[in-house]
Amino acid sequence: MRPIRRFVVHCSESPDGRPDTLEDIRLWHMSPDPRDPSKPWSDIGYHWVIERSGPPRAGRPVERPGAHVGGQNADSIGICLIGTRDFEESQLLYLEGLLHALLIRFPGAEVCGHTDLDSGKTCPNFNVGAWWRERQKHNTG
Ligand SMILES: [Zn+2]
Repeated sequence: MRPIRRFVVHCSESPDGRPDTLEDIRLWHMSPDPRDPSKPWSDIGYHWVIERSGPPRAGRPVERPGAHVGGQNADSIGICLIGTRDFEESQLLYLEGLLHALLIRFPGAEVCGHTDLDSGKTCPNFNVGAWWRERQKHNTG
């Protein structure tokens, strides 16, 4: 298994409420794109997708580097929330649970958002580090 140092949270930039699925994103990533000569990719770029309803779904196997963040795919896991800004509370609860599970397997990894690694992006449009610290306080309080 490759070393994992970061869990990187993303959003799909789907209009909030539109119920895009893991299969939709896989199709986007595996289709040619005139604006992105690196496509088509071999598989969906994310390791996990959290749809508007329902539990996290596995995308690319975590053993394989993803395609989700410039220059930092080798040692990270990419998680994508469907939506842009107005996420469902259930999605954030599922994200929290997924991160706890991943931390058991990959202890010490950092939780961050795409924008923390690429200041040219706003994805996922909230401060993941601050959100995660806040959730930890609730758990230990
Ligand atoms: Zn992103």
